[in-house]
Parts: sequence; C-alpha cells; structure tokens
Amino acid sequence: MSLIQHRIDGFRTGGSATLTVRDPATEKAVGEVALAGEEEVGAAVAAAARAFDAWQDVSQARRARIMFAFRDLLERHEDELARLVTAEHGKVLDDARGEIVRGREAVEFACGIPQQLKGEYSDQVSAGVDAYSFRQPLGVCAGVVPFNFPVMVPLWMHPIAIACGNAFVLKPSERVPSASNLIADLYAEAGLPDGVFNVVHGDRRAVDALITHPDVAAVSFVGSTPVARHVHAAATRAGKRVQALGGAKNHAVVLPDADLDLAAAQITAAAYGSAGQRCMAVSVAVAVGEAADPLVERLASRARALRVGPGADPGSEMGPLIGDDARTRVVAHVDAAEAAGAEVVVDGRGLPGPGFYVGPCLLDGVSTAMAAYREEIFGPVLIVLRADSLDEAVALVNANPYGNGTAIFTSSGEAARHFQRRVHVGMIGVNVPIPAPMAFYSFGGWKASLFGDAHVHGPEGVRFYTRAKAITTRWPRSPAGSAPAAAPSAG
Ligand code: NAD
Repeated sequence: MSLIQHRIDGFRTGGSATLTVRDPATEKAVGEVALAGEEEVGAAVAAAARAFDAWQDVSQARRARIMFAFRDLLERHEDELARLVTAEHGKVLDDARGEIVRGREAVEFACGIPQQLKGEYSDQVSAGVDAYSFRQPLGVCAGVVPFNFPVMVPLWMHPIAIACGNAFVLKPSERVPSASNLIADLYAEAGLPDGVFNVVHGDRRAVDALITHPDVAAVSFVGSTPVARHVHAAATRAGKRVQALGGAKNHAVVLPDADLDLAAAQITAAAYGSAGQRCMAVSVAVAVGEAADPLVERLASRARALRVGPGADPGSEMGPLIGDDARTRVVAHVDAAEAAGAEVVVDGRGLPGPGFYVGPCLLDGVSTAMAAYREEIFGPVLIVLRADSLDEAVALVNANPYGNGTAIFTSSGEAARHFQRRVHVGMIGVNVPIPAPMAFYSFGGWKASLFGDAHVHGPEGVRFYTRAKAITTRWPRSPAGSAPAAAPSAG
C-alpha cells in the first residue's frame, strides 16, 4: 500500500496518522494518505516563510519563465495526472483531462504576470512631485480545496500566488491527494526553489491549524458552504485576507423559443457530467411555459442513454460518486422527494456495486419546499421546476440562497439580456450551461456561494495575492528651502 506523504521544503515527510484513499469505481484502497497535525502544518508554513524571503526578490521575468516551464510540464504529464485523478475521484478520463486543460489556462495567465503587475505613474502631481503605485506579494498564502477538481481548483490559486512572489501551502482534499504531489514534483522540475510550494495533507485538523497560523497572510478556500462559512469566519478573525467559495444550486432556464434539442443535450451534460459533482453542475432546469413537457421528454431520453461505468473505461460517460457517504446522501434525497410527491422520471438508484454508483436521476413535480430543491445534492440528480414566465423564472433563481452559476436557453437576445441583468448570480451562460469564466476573467459566485469579496484567478486573483503601495516623490533640483508648516496643497 503506497503512503501519500506531505511535500515540505522539497522533502517527503509524515505518515504516523493516515487515512485510506479508495478508488470509487472499485471501493478498493489505493493508498494511505498522511494526516497533518499542528506540527506538520507549522513546518510547512515555516518552510514557506523562509522561501518567501528570497522568492519575493526573484525578478518577474524569472518567475514567469518558471511558470512557462511548469506549464509545459503540465502538458507533458497530462495523461499521468488524469489517471491519478480518475483513480481517486472516479470521473471519466476525458473529464479529468478537461480539468487539467482548464487549470493549465490559469498557469498560462500566470505566465503573463509582468503585464498584470504593472503599476501606475502620475507625473507632476504637484510642482516637482510625482506619484506612483505598485503591488507587492503578501508572504505565505494558503489554499484549502475540495475533492471534485483535484488539479483545476488548486491551479486557480497557487500559480498566480507564486507568480506574484508569494510562497504557498496547499491542503488538498484528503479524498484525492495524489495529484497535488505530482504537481509539487513538476514545480521542482520547472526550477521553483524548495519551500515556495508545499503540500500538507490532512482533514479539518490540518485546515484549522493552517488558516489560523500567525505566519499565514491569506487564505483561499473552495468547498461546501458550511465549511466556507467557517473558514471565512475563523481566518478573518485571525486577521487573514480570505476568499471562500462555497456550494451551489445552479438553475438553467429554458424558454419556449429555445432550441430544445440543444438545451436538452447541454443540460444533460451539465447535470450528469462528473456524476453531478461540479460546483457549476446544472441541478435545476426551470422550464418556462410550453417548453416544459417536450423538455422533460428530451431530458429523460438522454439521461436514460448515458453510459455509467468506471472512469478509466473509455466507454463510460459518467463514473461513480466519491464515496459511500455521497451515495447514501444522493439516494436519501431522491427517496425523500419521491415520498413528498415528486415524480422520479428517470431512476438511477439501485445500481449494483462494487463502486459508489448512482445513475442519472430526473425528478419532475418538485416543489421549492423540498429538501432536494433547497439543498445542494452534489450528485447526478436533475430537478425540473415549471414557471409561467421569464420573470417568474428569474424570481425563482433569485429566491435560492446560492448564486454561483446560471444559464438561459433562448433565441431571444432581449430575453437573455433581461435575464443577465436581473439574476443575482455571479456567472451566467447564454445557451452555455456551465459558464465557468476563462482564466483571464475571474471565477466566483454571489450570496451563499462566496464569502469574502474577491473572486479567484484572473485579475481578481492578482489583486487578492498582492497589496498596493502608493509612493509620492520629490527630487529637489537645488538644496531644499524651508519646508512650509501648513498642509501641502497642489501648487
Ligand atoms: P468540503 O467542504 O467537505 O471540503 C473542502 C475542504 O475543506 C477539504 O480540503 C476538507 O478537508 C476541508 N474540510 C472539510 N470539513 C472541514 C471542517 N469542518 N473544517 C475545516 N475544514 C474542513 O467540500 P468537498 O466535499 O470536498 O467538495 C464539494 C463541495 O465543494 C461542494 O459543495 C461544491 O459545490 C463545492 N465546490 C465549490 C466550488 C466553487 O467554485 N464555488 C468549486 C468546487 C467545489
């Protein structure tokens, strides 16, 4: 059984307390992951703090060159990384490759960091006085990430933090730890000095030690809403800069003038891809007016046709859930909705093991009072709600506590424009079901989907991982005269 260790200051350490990591497709153990306590977290932060001292002075050009090398290594090791993701997460290999490509785009953005760090300069703001500003790194930044994107979500954080001149400590999800260790190896091969990127594995104990450590300047978190809320509160109380992205309940609104075949195909992929374990998964389809019945018919036939099986099998379109706890939660939600009167149009319960499988489920006749609608299920369950008008659909989206992503399917530009202006949601797609922004924009939701005010990656990522200095200078030409006692004014 392999031991999955921490990467601290370039060394592999730890392993006294461990947790078994399982392949969700077979339920078999694939390794034992080390669980960090305060001591290992302290060692990682100390290594990062030492490394930061020198790294902050490394030229922008050299930092960018290391990012270019890292980006090429990510491309060369794509297959190896994807196989690690599939073995521990269960998603199909193509989907694992897809997340690596999307994550690599954030590294490509970080390669252009000199452009992002350009400051401002104002000549002659007063007689003989100039003003300028520039941004500097914060120090040691920490990242705590969920299980569902073992490569992409961390890549939203550390390349930008590091390119900005920070050192980083990553706490991966204990359910999918191995990809982060390969990432640490690739950084080392790219020429990143030891200690600039560290990985500590563990559970909530490691998280609580990391986010309150006195030498950590900033915390980036992505995960479920209750934990995001806790991390935001605890780290803010400890004086850190914090961005904490939470869960979601993403609605796709389908108007009667939409291409219903396109809408059904796109919504099916967005609802059941990765077994619905995406923060941008579509979990609610809001069918407006006469779109409802033909949409449900199309969604049902597509859901029934999806091939469920091991992620490593090229014939599979959807893999298992992450664990037995997830399978139990998903089935319980479908059971409860059915008992409360919902119609289970497509029933994915009861698939045989081994493997934590639940097939696609499609629920019609769901009310907004049901737990299956109110809570994030995070599994392959698509709920259909019906609305009489676009305004009623917008009101539904806005009444939901989450505000991560949403989409509208329509052929009316006017309707789409009205929708995008009115919904209280951070990321919006028009005939695009999963509107995850490109790496040169920033990613983040509203309401219970984000705590803190900074979205991740892109320009907001650069601002989050740096702080500004404003300088005012005077270089007198001749020996200075007497300084006026009155407050200086522009002259
Ligand atoms: P999770 O909240 O259970 O875990 C996330 C991280 O927090 C893990 O590293 C875990 O070890 C740690 N953690 C868990 N419980 C903790 C606690 N009580 N105290 C401190 N740390 C704790 O989330 P998950 O199940 O790994 O991931 C799925 C969730 O992540 C879903 O809710 C999904 O919507 C969300 N997610 C959100 C986004 C986004 O961009 N908003 C992206 C991906 C995933």
